[in-house]
Amino acid sequence: MSQIVITVDINMKLSLKSVQNLNWKKKYSKEKQKIMYHIAKQKISKPFIFLGDFNAHNKIRNCLNSNSQDKQLEKTIIENDLCLIKPTQPTRYHENTNTSSTIDLAMTTPTLFEDIEWDAEHDLHGSDHYPIIISIRNKPTNSDLKRLNYNKTDWSSFTFMIEEQMKNFDTIDDESRNRWIEIISKVIKQTTPVIQNKKDSLSIFTAEIIAIQMAIKFISKSNSKNFMIFSDSLSTVTALKQYRPQHNLIIQTQNRIHDNLNDNNGKKMTLIWIPSHIGIQGNEEVDQLASQAHNIPISNLPIPHNDLRFWTKKVSMEKWQLEWNQTSNFLKLSTPFLSQKNEFKGLKRKPQTIINRLKIGHSSLTHSWILNKTNSPTYNSCNEKLTIHHILVKCNSHNNSRKRHDIPSEVEKIFSRDKINNLISFLHEIQIFNRI
Ligand SMILES: [Zn+2]
Repeated sequence: MSQIVITVDINMKLSLKSVQNLNWKKKYSKEKQKIMYHIAKQKISKPFIFLGDFNAHNKIRNCLNSNSQDKQLEKTIIENDLCLIKPTQPTRYHENTNTSSTIDLAMTTPTLFEDIEWDAEHDLHGSDHYPIIISIRNKPTNSDLKRLNYNKTDWSSFTFMIEEQMKNFDTIDDESRNRWIEIISKVIKQTTPVIQNKKDSLSIFTAEIIAIQMAIKFISKSNSKNFMIFSDSLSTVTALKQYRPQHNLIIQTQNRIHDNLNDNNGKKMTLIWIPSHIGIQGNEEVDQLASQAHNIPISNLPIPHNDLRFWTKKVSMEKWQLEWNQTSNFLKLSTPFLSQKNEFKGLKRKPQTIINRLKIGHSSLTHSWILNKTNSPTYNSCNEKLTIHHILVKCNSHNNSRKRHDIPSEVEKIFSRDKINNLISFLHEIQIFNRI
């Protein structure tokens, strides 16, 4: 008899698949094929937790014997690159014999493995299986919030959502304060894009590959026959398994592995992924060494040009910005920072065009006189020289409209995402929307 109770309270996408009482006895039983099918055809999207009564006995899990089901299970785990979450107590109680065994198991994908904790209750609750509690350690929210690009926060949505939430609170006391902090971080995550920056992952990836190449070099010179390389970089290990890799360093590394492992020298090499920061001695020592590495001189190792792309872009952007700071045209006023991008989400083509023309300060209204070979026009509301700057910020005849539509007095802020709709309605009201 078994019962399934599931409580889920997490903020990530996760697949759960439960199987019961599998019959693995035939070598390729239907159940096993079913699991393989689900995983192989990605019917279960990653990351996932795969739970079940697999009826797999193994002495290392305090069972009386090991059985063939366990061998099948082990094969499934290896073939699908899964991790078995190690139970810390028996999961099944046999009333007749007054013995226990550990047959309810959980498997997961490597990315999730490090964050999973396995526990079980000691009360059977009337079943013959103990309730198993699988919890996923939450990564600290702090680091989540650091990865956000606050320059691109949608502040009007943020304000709106916070105001909606505020309706549920009368006062804020010690207890509700923490709930508030949670709500605010949740809302800010929903209204702010994550920083798109691959700088770190690129160079770390290169470093990991080069480390593996160094290990292969060591292997080629050694007289021993069997080698194991342990790496905590899942992306590197996965990349090295690719059938037709694109990355130059991966192709190079695969070739070196082939050069050094052949029938002539009888050498054997195994590449093993290990989770990091869980106290594996060798891994911790390597981490220590890596943190001391900035004390040694810079090496001349060649790196892929892709790694330089980020820095090239950054340096040229900074140089350009310095030059831009010296400029004094209207575009400089509306777009003082070159890195900021137009965000026209949800706007139609026509308003997009108009906003771009306004930002540059060139429009049919203010500049068509050059083509028409007439004199430069004055604004008919006040007889001042007609410029976009004058209409948007200076012209006193629009003071009331500006106030009504809450148009900021700084040019840059007029074009910020949360003020765009105000700007459009302002242009309609002063009847120049169709003349830009
Ligand atoms: Zn005016």
